[in-house]
Amino acid sequence: MKNHYHYIFLFVTLTLAACVINPYETTSVQSPKLDYALAIHGGAGTISRENLSAENEADYRRVLNQALDAGQQVLVSGGSAVEAVQQTIIVMENSPLFNAGKGAVFTHDGRNEMDASIMSGIDQTAGAVGGVTTIKNPIKAARAVMEQSPHVMLVGKGAEIFSIEQQIEQAEPEYFFTQRRWDALQKNKSRNNQQSLHKVDDSKFGTVGAVALDQNGNLAAGTSTGGMTNKRWSRIGDSPVIGAGTYADNSSCAVSATGHGEYFIRYAVAHDICARLHYKKITLQEAADEVVMQKLVEKGGSGGVISMDAQGNIAMPFNTSGMYRGYVKPGARNVSIYKND
Ligand code: ASP
Repeated sequence: MKNHYHYIFLFVTLTLAACVINPYETTSVQSPKLDYALAIHGGAGTISRENLSAENEADYRRVLNQALDAGQQVLVSGGSAVEAVQQTIIVMENSPLFNAGKGAVFTHDGRNEMDASIMSGIDQTAGAVGGVTTIKNPIKAARAVMEQSPHVMLVGKGAEIFSIEQQIEQAEPEYFFTQRRWDALQKNKSRNNQQSLHKVDDSKFGTVGAVALDQNGNLAAGTSTGGMTNKRWSRIGDSPVIGAGTYADNSSCAVSATGHGEYFIRYAVAHDICARLHYKKITLQEAADEVVMQKLVEKGGSGGVISMDAQGNIAMPFNTSGMYRGYVKPGARNVSIYKND
């Protein structure tokens, strides 16, 4: 009997010692979960100090900060990640600076056809609209598709009719006219006249997106865009495609992308990042880098992503010269544009 106690004592002592010295015990400790976190992008592309005036740069930084303010307010007051993503994106859709909503680029036919999507990390519910021309804030319509319809994606006229039924604000074509985007279309067309193959403008992207973690530990992601200048034939990009331009899953991560959409669709970029994080047990930064800085670069797909894991860690890799981006967490805020910014 005495011997028995001896063995039990030995077993307990060894188990406790193993817990204390086990190196995996310390390395597997996750960084403490944040109360909330929010990250945003306003598009990636050939953005450099040389081609952005000081005044323009200040404008971009101001609106990016306003977008962060809007989402932060929702998160601080206990609102959901989905609501924070929507409110953040609305600020950027309402600005002429970004290629979404008000500042959407022009199609070959001189129209503004917009795409948007939103996804909840809780249960993978998602909503998206594609090729809409009359909806002032396409992200609102995407959210309505998610919450008020049995579908995930609605396009064109049908999506517009649905948004009217949902009492979502509409706008006339003139609302979406900006001289800068019009001039960009003319420039792109004249360049294309000298080439035999029709090309979209893949040098500048201005799509907007947000990912958020709320105080209940839920993730969400959303993306909104006018697509690519000079696009034709009702082309739809990656932004409204769940798994390509947008993805959110509480058990892995939330991603919003910007870049040459065809590549992001073909390589299911947003989902690929979350899948790598989940299955390979690597960090968010490693997963996002593998896809954006290795795979996409090998394949020739330019662009970037903002991503966030369930602990509120953020990774924002891009393989272009710049990406309008920012984040806010308790006690930390940053807005940047260039590579070494
Ligand atoms: N990804 C968008 C698209 O291909 C473009 C962008 O990011 O600006 O439609």
